[in-house]
Amino acid sequence: MYDIEKIRGDFPILSREVNGKPLVYLDNGASAQKPQVVIDAITQGYAMEYSNVHRGLHFLSNLATEKYEATRGIIARFLGVANENEIVLNSGTTEGINTVAYGWAMENLSAGDEIVLSVMEHHANIVPWHFLRERMGVILKWVDINDAGELNPQEVIDAIGPKTKLVAVTQCSNVLGTIVDVKAITEGAHAKGVPVLVDGSQGAVHAPVNVDDIGCDFYAITGHKLYGPSSSGAIFIKSERMAEMRPFMGGGDMIREVHRDHVTYNDAPMKFEAGTPGIIPTIGFGVALEYLMNIGMANIAEHERKLRDYTMDKIAGLNWLNVQGTATDKAAIFSLTLDGAAHAHDISTILDKKGVAVRAGHHCAQPLMERLGVTATARASFGMYNTFDDADALIDALGLAHELFA
Ligand code: PLP
Repeated sequence: MYDIEKIRGDFPILSREVNGKPLVYLDNGASAQKPQVVIDAITQGYAMEYSNVHRGLHFLSNLATEKYEATRGIIARFLGVANENEIVLNSGTTEGINTVAYGWAMENLSAGDEIVLSVMEHHANIVPWHFLRERMGVILKWVDINDAGELNPQEVIDAIGPKTKLVAVTQCSNVLGTIVDVKAITEGAHAKGVPVLVDGSQGAVHAPVNVDDIGCDFYAITGHKLYGPSSSGAIFIKSERMAEMRPFMGGGDMIREVHRDHVTYNDAPMKFEAGTPGIIPTIGFGVALEYLMNIGMANIAEHERKLRDYTMDKIAGLNWLNVQGTATDKAAIFSLTLDGAAHAHDISTILDKKGVAVRAGHHCAQPLMERLGVTATARASFGMYNTFDDADALIDALGLAHELFA
């Protein structure tokens, strides 16, 4: 059974008030709150166990290294990856995708080659490819969604031509909540000999993931959305793709030997982890993932499905409230606009007065905003600790905004 009260009790921040009202935190798509076990791990890490990792010969360095390296195995287990050396630790999805852009794509693509993307990508899965367009003449090929916000895998596969060298798609839209069948896309792309990068920033948060089963070449996640510390994350990179890569950042830790006239590199995955890493954030990330696995991602998915259906039903009953994205398979993420003149920022400000935290803006997805014909939305994104009461509070506060702007 999903013990929501116990889970809520694990997150100290949920007991606070905002603007004199109990906090209703619905900004999980931007960043999730942290359970006490993660906060304790961070405190313990800095208070009693801190030192730099790797190469240290003293007790604290060995301890920090052991805990830091253990996270690699935890992430592999969480993602269903058999070989933990295919996990590169980093600060999050943005760094992960840039690692692929600089380390793999710059080595393996040339002018006129294409990258296939969907129109609902986050900027983190767009701008690094624009860099290649600007610097190397790579062509970005966009695949549209339908009016429900769904991405048809076959359309992605059909967009792959002889010059396509990479498909880069999200598993779950941070704006619409749409879940994408990335396994079907991977199978189709591989049949045409094209590697696939999956942005799992949102996808890995809302449902169990098995990256080996998806079969993709690159899979990026970010720690702070998975109830872990900010500045933690990882990217799965298939060994074959790692072998085709050059290191993206140079510095300590990623080398074997450095001489005046040449340098040799560490083995992968360390080869792609230059400099002192986010030691304690990474350790905290591992603790967050253990916490999620103890509760069970399938249980979290089921809980969030109920919240999604409940909230969708409520929204459907209100003719002044518009939700962008009505995909059949969707996470509990609602991008909302009100009839009339209310701007998303105004909606969010009014909701905040009621203690309801949502995000307003373009959500780092401007090509999608263009596709939807809006400049901004107010986005309510649910997480593992949200309740039906939270959904009610959201709808009540939206009602107030509607009255004020009607
Ligand atoms: N991709 C998606 C779908 C996201 O929602 C986000 C964050 O909002 C990112 C990528 C970027 O993640 P980060 O800023 O943690 O690197």
